Amino acid sequence: MSDIENLLRDDLRGRTPYGAPQLDVAVRLNTNENPYPPSAALLEDLARRVAEAAGTMNRYPDRDALELRGELAAYLSAATGAPLGVDQVWAANGSNEVLQQLLQAFGGPGRQALGFDPTYSMHRLICVGTGTDYLSVPRLPDFRLEAEAAALVVREHGPDVVFLCSPNNPTGTALDLDVISAVYDAARGLVVVDEAYAEFSTRPSAVTLLPGRDRLVVTRTMSKAFAFAAARLGYLAADPAVVEALQLVRLPYHLSVLTQAAARAALAHADELLATVEAVKAQRDRLVRDLRGLGLDVVPSDANFVLFGEFGDAAATWQGLLDRGVLVRDVGVPGWLRVTAGTEAETTTFLDALAAGLSDAERVAP
Ligand SMILES: *Cc1c(COP(=O)(O)O)cnc(C)c1O
Repeated sequence: MSDIENLLRDDLRGRTPYGAPQLDVAVRLNTNENPYPPSAALLEDLARRVAEAAGTMNRYPDRDALELRGELAAYLSAATGAPLGVDQVWAANGSNEVLQQLLQAFGGPGRQALGFDPTYSMHRLICVGTGTDYLSVPRLPDFRLEAEAAALVVREHGPDVVFLCSPNNPTGTALDLDVISAVYDAARGLVVVDEAYAEFSTRPSAVTLLPGRDRLVVTRTMSKAFAFAAARLGYLAADPAVVEALQLVRLPYHLSVLTQAAARAALAHADELLATVEAVKAQRDRLVRDLRGLGLDVVPSDANFVLFGEFGDAAATWQGLLDRGVLVRDVGVPGWLRVTAGTEAETTTFLDALAAGLSDAERVAP
């Protein structure tokens, strides 16, 4: 063992980092981004605002990002119908950083988080990074959660943090509010609802459950529907006391003046950015229909991606698609693959490549 391996924390030794492959492939449908790049109008506004902000680069940025948080609160209030104040919203460099700050404040060594797998792999990985024990509870065979059963397992284990994800990555399944409120009632700790894909869903947001539930936290991101993944901006809505607690662990000035300016530009163009959501949803629905048409199992999706299977050898199907220039995601659910809804042309390329691969497989079958 090398010196560095010896010096590394015991609980990190031998682990592999998060690593969705970043390959130079024509059609990339593996990380659930919005396929539409920013418009010329947004770029112009963004460049102007960023240049203006850069004029104050010699000074540290607003540590509390108050203007940005106020605008996020206004956006989220309008989107969910639940009034939110600036003191209920917190922002960081991607919702992953928000989740990390939550675990730094409410998890950590000697504490436990519980998640329902398969779910977003970063929930477990951020637990590892913060020394929080992660208890994995399996979903039902159709990947749903049932209110009573979920509440029971939460009551039985009494974790410090419960992760819910709705719509859930990688299954696309969304939670009805009664499941969230049942889990909340059964939990003694924080209940974090990861709503990274909420804009693609027609269900009411868990934000509407916040009044009177001070242990409930709803996380959101600008990386998916907002088409702003590279800017790195995630946020949460919660009781003001949760937001205050996060100030104990966040690094000072964590959100650069450039990030704050860029995110505010995107929010000023929210209607335009979110106008692509309907087009993406149409391709998602097409994926569900056409994959079923190919004789595959498809999990109903409220997000911008679809989990499909079942394959005897999902890794071989993944490679076959890559050989045809299409990158999808092997999320580690045996027999299943996940594909992001792209533009109409990208989705067509994927479906054609898959159909060609399936008929190849038939030809080699005995
Ligand atoms: C993509 C994704 C995120 C987003 O992470 P960012 O750090 O905001 O880019 C969060 N949660 C889930 C479930 C995701 O799939």
